[in-house]
Amino acid sequence: MKKTTPEGNKLTGIFCHIFGHHYTVSKRVTEHIKEYKCLHCQKQVTTDERGKLSALTPVMQEINKTLEEMYQKRNRRTSTVRRQVA
Ligand SMILES: [Zn+2]
Repeated sequence: MKKTTPEGNKLTGIFCHIFGHHYTVSKRVTEHIKEYKCLHCQKQVTTDERGKLSALTPVMQEINKTLEEMYQKRNRRTSTVRRQVA
C-alpha cells in the first residue's frame, strides 16, 4: 500500500484539535524565547516578546535568528570583557 496522501496529518490534526498540541522545544533562541514543535501535527510555534505562543512564520523565524545571534554574541562578549578590562 502506497502512502500518497497525508492522511496521518489530517487525523493528528483532529487529535490536536480535541486534545491540544503536544509541543516540545525544537530550538532555544534565548533564555526566554524558544521555538516549539507539535509532536503530532508538526505545527511550529514560538514565544513572542510578550511571552505568549504564536505561529512560527518565516518573519518570526528571521526575528528569532537575529535574536539568537545577538544573544550568543552578548554572552560571548560578557564572558571575555572581564579579561580584556582586567
Ligand atoms: Zn498538534
